[in-house]
Amino acid sequence: MRWEGQTLESEDPQALPGLSRIAGFIRSTRTPEFSGITFHEVACRSALNRVPAQSAMPFDWTVNPTRGCLHQCTYCFARRTHEYLDFDSGRDFDTQIIVKTNVVQVLRKELARPSWRREHVALGTNSDPYMRAEGRYRLMPGIITALADSGTPFSILTKGPLLKRDLPLLAAAARSVQVSIGVSLAFLDADLQQRVEPGTPTPKARLDLIRAVADAGLDVGVMAMPVLPWLTDGDDHLDELFGRLAAAGATAVTAGALHLRPGAREWFLQWLARDYPQLTGRYRQLYGGGSYAAKEYRQWLAGRVARFRTRHGFAGPARSFRSTAPDIGPGPAGPQDSPAPTLF
Ligand code: SF4
Repeated sequence: MRWEGQTLESEDPQALPGLSRIAGFIRSTRTPEFSGITFHEVACRSALNRVPAQSAMPFDWTVNPTRGCLHQCTYCFARRTHEYLDFDSGRDFDTQIIVKTNVVQVLRKELARPSWRREHVALGTNSDPYMRAEGRYRLMPGIITALADSGTPFSILTKGPLLKRDLPLLAAAARSVQVSIGVSLAFLDADLQQRVEPGTPTPKARLDLIRAVADAGLDVGVMAMPVLPWLTDGDDHLDELFGRLAAAGATAVTAGALHLRPGAREWFLQWLARDYPQLTGRYRQLYGGGSYAAKEYRQWLAGRVARFRTRHGFAGPARSFRSTAPDIGPGPAGPQDSPAPTLF
């Protein structure tokens, strides 16, 4: 997903240095509740973003009310999109947040066009719509209502328990359009989670969110990604994770290996070198300078995932909210407790 077609069609000579490429720039603001964070408020020209045809995304349209993400996941593959805004894909992505303050009004206009075909719209593809900033800007209720009123099906992928606030609205929307809720949760170890995704809510908070969505009568899929080679790919972890997800009421789960797109790769490998220096050589060998783990590893992992999905009752097809990993299918189940391929 890229920023083009949303607000980069022209330069605003009034904008601050570094933001000159954002048309409709309004102001930059800081607030004590968000220490170290700068919000850059913009009036966007378009809200619906067409996904490029060559993208592997399983949807054609997105809405991203924000850019950058307070959840600060070291592996986030949206990081590089911040470079289009003359920010860096590391710390700036985590702390310089673009907010489209008029996104609801613009979206309503676009949805009212006779040419709009009510295709599926995905939220949470480039920035988490329920990060803490949503508590300040409160854009999602208007977006949900606009989509539902126009008869447009939509999905939301989030790590943010703030979504609970909008459950009554989402349940009402689901009576008129298809609504898919996805929660992203890949780690049960709160210490590891805090180091890999320092801005995210705890695993417990996200399990509680899954339970709340299920209790509201909505299906809730889980994106249990990324699985980190040699850190979270063990049978014990996958078994416990899938069991906890099932117990919390998840209806589907998707899992796959870490994907290291440029922008995310540099940032993640810096983190790995700091926290697990003994693994850096193995990761470099596994990824070979590319974005994907070696096929042999992905097939091995897919076999473990298939086994634990079946064990915990996730028998249907895996749901995909925004995976960009190549689909290598469920893979062979493999012998019980087989370790990762020794090649790596
Ligand atoms: S929550 Fe999603 S968008 Fe935000 S940093 Fe993490 S992976 Fe990126």
